[in-house]
Amino acid sequence: MENKKLTTNKGHPVPNDQASITTGEGSSYTLLQDVHLIEKLAHFDRERIPERVVHAKGAGAHGYFEVTNDLSKYTRAKFLGEVGKKTDVFVRFSTVGGEKGSADTARDPRGFAVKFYTEEGNYDLVGNNTPIFFIRDAIKFPDFIHTQKRHPQTNLPDADMFWDFLSLTPESVHQVSILFSDRGTPYSFRHMDGFSSHTFMWYNENNEYVWVKVHFKTTLGNKTFTNDEAVKMAGENPNHATEDLYNAIKDGNHPQWDVYVQIMTPEEAKEYKFDPFDITKVWYHGDYPLIPLGKMVLNRNPENFFAEVEQAAFAPSNFVPGIGPSPDRLLQGRLFSYEDTQRHRLGANHHQIPVNRAKNVKIANYERDSYMNVDGNGGSGPNYYPNSMNGPEPDISFNPPTIEVQAIIDRHTRSTEDVDFVQAGELYRRVLDKQNKSNLVSNIVGHLGNANENIQYRQTALFYKCDEEYGTRVADGIGLDVARVKELASMTQEERVNSTRS
Ligand code: NDP
Repeated sequence: MENKKLTTNKGHPVPNDQASITTGEGSSYTLLQDVHLIEKLAHFDRERIPERVVHAKGAGAHGYFEVTNDLSKYTRAKFLGEVGKKTDVFVRFSTVGGEKGSADTARDPRGFAVKFYTEEGNYDLVGNNTPIFFIRDAIKFPDFIHTQKRHPQTNLPDADMFWDFLSLTPESVHQVSILFSDRGTPYSFRHMDGFSSHTFMWYNENNEYVWVKVHFKTTLGNKTFTNDEAVKMAGENPNHATEDLYNAIKDGNHPQWDVYVQIMTPEEAKEYKFDPFDITKVWYHGDYPLIPLGKMVLNRNPENFFAEVEQAAFAPSNFVPGIGPSPDRLLQGRLFSYEDTQRHRLGANHHQIPVNRAKNVKIANYERDSYMNVDGNGGSGPNYYPNSMNGPEPDISFNPPTIEVQAIIDRHTRSTEDVDFVQAGELYRRVLDKQNKSNLVSNIVGHLGNANENIQYRQTALFYKCDEEYGTRVADGIGLDVARVKELASMTQEERVNSTRS
């Protein structure tokens, strides 16, 4: 109900919103009894909720997903059940490392988070615009992010800590190579692809399962800034991508992505030349072609940024029947960490905020109370299970497939292997053209050139291990001795680290 009369938050009429209640006409004392003033200041003091530690700067929009190809033999997920079926979505794009006011054109992966409001509850696909990631074990995540943010003393981005960590984490070199190509500075959120990045399980009504990766391909084609263009835009319009998305949708230019999946059987997964659950690797298109699944269209801007975009809570743990996790170690950590972040940021009842609410299902369980409980809190119904009060019952028919595991419990260290350099080498040799190769090298040189020389050598040896020409050109660009780079590249990671200590 629209009300043109100004009220307090409790609905009381406000007679004057320009003058506090004071003891006189000139300079004077303000009275504590001005409850409207007190409420206004107190609410203002509490306007900020904790900024996301990662993905703080973002923009979002509403739209829909439509099935264009029936793959329901692989998954019982109802929203994928038939061609033509449409499901509402909310999508949030973001940079990763920068603060809420940082520039949209920063060299950074872009978050690509999709919430599907399905009839079986909300399904979140919380991906990025890159098919891979820097690390493959969640225990490394807080360290990695610290190195991409600000130095604890100077409060400045720091090339030493940035490259020190990456050069000590060689599995990152594939993602580093994508990040420093021009794909690391997308022109806008509309002009980039999205990826599940992780491998997920799809299972059908018979509990037969396959492994899948999801790809969103922009119908506008990938468009990127060069490094110079991105830096210039960061100064001229740090909100370039946010503005581009908002204006495009406002003008009726609704961005669209064609959605595909790659599908691998459990038997194939045991034989594939790369660990199919290792998020530092892709599945080659030649081995697992993209199979059409649907399309996603964004056609409605948020009415209120804070309510819908800032409060949007995505978590990869939000699955629907027919979709489940894989033994990807980074995913396993994210299954905890994202939902936990939302509990911290928005509270235990963040699922009751309209943008996060399951639109097509009535929530029925025995969780109760906590801050900001606004959905009736289960009313007079029982708050325990089992009960004989006709409360909600679990349904065994939704049990996902059982997975057999033979386990040795340990902190299994994954050492660096030659296979960790293969795909970055393929990217350099086979995918990037002459101009893109040059841009990649000069983007790395411009950044790594600011780090300590020992770190430069250690990191350049990793590029050399991917491809001799790649490593040689980076070495030449920085002014390093190529023979020394080659020698370091021939060592084990442990030897290389020992040989490049400060
Ligand atoms: P293909 O040779 O079949 O295709 C190349 C892929 O690379 C396309 O998806 C293309 O995207 C993408 N691409 C082009 N330039 C860049 C860039 N600067 N950064 C990241 N991706 C880029 O791929 P293969 O499957 O044979 O894999 C070869 C290499 O391609 C991989 O090692 C990986 O580095 C990269 N790649 C592979 C993907 C996969 O899922 N298999 C996905 C993305 C990259 P587009 O078609 O939009 O131009």
